[in-house]
Amino acid sequence: MGVREGFEELYGTAPEGVWAAPGRVNLIGEYTDFNEGFVMPLALPHTAVAAVSRRSDGVLRLHSADIEGPIVELDVDALEPLTNTSWAAYPAGVVWVLREAGHAIAGADVHLASTVPTGAGLSSSAALEVVTALALNDLYELGLSGPELAIIAQRAENDFVGVPCGVMDQTASACCTEGHAVHLDCRDLSIRQIPFDLPAHGLELLVVDTRVKHALGDGAYAERREGCEEGARQLGVSHLRDVAYEELDAALARLSDERVRRYVRHVVSDDHRVERVVALLDAGDVRAIGPVLTDGHASLRDDLRISCPELDLVVDTANSSGALGARMTGGGFGGSAIVLAEASDKDTIAKAIEEAFAAAGFTAPRVFPAVPSAGARRLA
Ligand code: ADP
Ligand code: MG
Repeated sequence: MGVREGFEELYGTAPEGVWAAPGRVNLIGEYTDFNEGFVMPLALPHTAVAAVSRRSDGVLRLHSADIEGPIVELDVDALEPLTNTSWAAYPAGVVWVLREAGHAIAGADVHLASTVPTGAGLSSSAALEVVTALALNDLYELGLSGPELAIIAQRAENDFVGVPCGVMDQTASACCTEGHAVHLDCRDLSIRQIPFDLPAHGLELLVVDTRVKHALGDGAYAERREGCEEGARQLGVSHLRDVAYEELDAALARLSDERVRRYVRHVVSDDHRVERVVALLDAGDVRAIGPVLTDGHASLRDDLRISCPELDLVVDTANSSGALGARMTGGGFGGSAIVLAEASDKDTIAKAIEEAFAAAGFTAPRVFPAVPSAGARRLA
């Protein structure tokens, strides 16, 4: 059943509209966002789709076709941050942030369904937030731009749900365009669409979901963040963004703590890798980004230390079976890796990864193409 039909069956009337917002993969630039550096995600063809109508009685009703259970009914006046631990906190958080910002959201009926795999590092949560924000923006005629909706969605996740994420995921979901990756400057939040038309170059970007569930709540993310802040403090800059790549060695020599030194080296070199990838794509040299992706993986594995055996196996197997480059993507400790390959080699590489996982006794991975897709939009 489609989302529109699901809405009608649940709520007894047709929705006022239907919206979609995608999940994302990050091409390059990891743990750089909170250091006010650069990231470069692209939207996936997988989307959260929401059918939504306004209400005028202060009631917010939420339902997901993907979750067992009844309609969640909330009073918009009584929304309280950090009190709702269910999936409903993501869309409810968006309503709360909009109301905190002074927008008169008087309620809504929402029914949604998503094809974004959850907990795979592909930002199913951002898709949920952004689709809700876009639907309410349209229905309540708020006039907010894509980047503004991304910030609202991020605030919902940070302040209402309680997850300390940067703004990359929501920006990707809200602002990406088909055939492009988005270059985001996490300091001034300016974005640039970078052509990344893989089919035109005979290339494919594979996503390999290791099925290892990442759990960023275990403190590792906060620990890396704290280490980066400590590095910036010791170097006398506000954020690691301000350490020039050309001065990295000199900066590292000034740091006494080996752990902080590794984190600084990762962040500063990954910012540089983002700029390198942009330059290569601007020059039309798409294949040449492969080794930059693989370097990025080594940095995440050895310096930031957020990889895991499954992610390393994807990258090593892909590269030894003909890939142009590969790296883990997202927060780490599981989730997904990306593999850049000649389209003609993708089946061989996918098979090699599946066989390597079986030989290692790992759960079979899920492999699918990451076609650079459109960001959030109204469908009907
Ligand atoms: P990721 O964003 O990497 O997929 P998160 O842990 O940030 O992982 O977000 C996953 C959570 O988002 C799920 O546990 C669930 O609460 C919510 N979610 C995602 N997709 C859906 C959906 N289709 N229906 C209901 N909740 C969803
Ligand atoms: Mg998430």
